[in-house]
Amino acid sequence: MAIAKDTVVQFHYTLKDADGTVIEASHGNEPMAYLHGHGNIIPGLEDAMIGKEAGDEFTATVAPENAYGQRDETAIQRIPAKHLQGAKKWKKGMVAHVETDQGPRQVTVLKVGKFMVDVDANHPFAGKELTFEVKVEEMRPATAEEIQHGHAHGIGGHQH
Ligand code: ZN
Repeated sequence: MAIAKDTVVQFHYTLKDADGTVIEASHGNEPMAYLHGHGNIIPGLEDAMIGKEAGDEFTATVAPENAYGQRDETAIQRIPAKHLQGAKKWKKGMVAHVETDQGPRQVTVLKVGKFMVDVDANHPFAGKELTFEVKVEEMRPATAEEIQHGHAHGIGGHQH
């Protein structure tokens, strides 16, 4: 069995930026699970998964346009500090939740004033070339329910 549409895949990964700095890793946690072919993970990584089997290890370098997109400088905005959710005191670099007309968004705090804060609504990995070191742990055919929901259930997936 190899990874193809409607396969549930569990994998461990280490994510590095272009300088080789580790910015995220799944090791020490449960493996990440996703339903292949449903856009659950970034396109560049999903493409690299095709045809892999349990036990396979590989490295995939993904350009921003196949990951989190390019940075949008208009996403840097000054907003009232009281709109930030998730902490009482804010400092540069912290991640906050903000309710917007388009629903909840995550923003990174850039600068804190008395009443106003400058925030960046770009995804933290936007504009970055990302390198994933991946180990495929397990795979199985998706259930009808998972295909209907468009995501994986169970360990590392949706619990509901
Ligand atoms: Zn579900």
